[in-house]
Amino acid sequence: MALREILTQGDPALAKTCRPVEKFDRKLHDLLDDLKETLAESGGVGLAAPQIGILRRVVVVEDADDHMLELVNPVIVSQEGEQNGWEGCLSVPGKYGMVQRPNLVTVRAQDRDGNFFEASGEGLVARCFCHETEHLDGHLFVEHTDRLYTVEELDAMEQAGDEP
Ligand code: ZN
Repeated sequence: MALREILTQGDPALAKTCRPVEKFDRKLHDLLDDLKETLAESGGVGLAAPQIGILRRVVVVEDADDHMLELVNPVIVSQEGEQNGWEGCLSVPGKYGMVQRPNLVTVRAQDRDGNFFEASGEGLVARCFCHETEHLDGHLFVEHTDRLYTVEELDAMEQAGDEP
């Protein structure tokens, strides 16, 4: 396992479409372990392989029980409802935006051995499923919001009781 550097907005790897995983081998297991270790260290709730420069369809997402789900070749198969909330990204440090997402999302993915499974999440987990799978097609959350805010701006708004 190794901590990996997280690439930031502007790096070409973040704008690429990632290739599906075909081999469920040691290399994939190392990638998943590195993603989990790097995510745990970062304090974030999800991390996609392109964020560490690996253009493969692999993400890790923290579920409602703080357990890290490993999603290989994930596809969103159903979504319901909507939520509006603040969203950020480890690749866009210090910036947050108000982003609308579905409230209940189910993904179909493969585990590290290639077995298919489905996972459902609501609220933050649903938001994370959407955010991380978008990374695999070269998209960032900033495309879904008109304005980005700094932590200082969010704090000031909270104190004033304002909503954007
Ligand atoms: Zn992100």
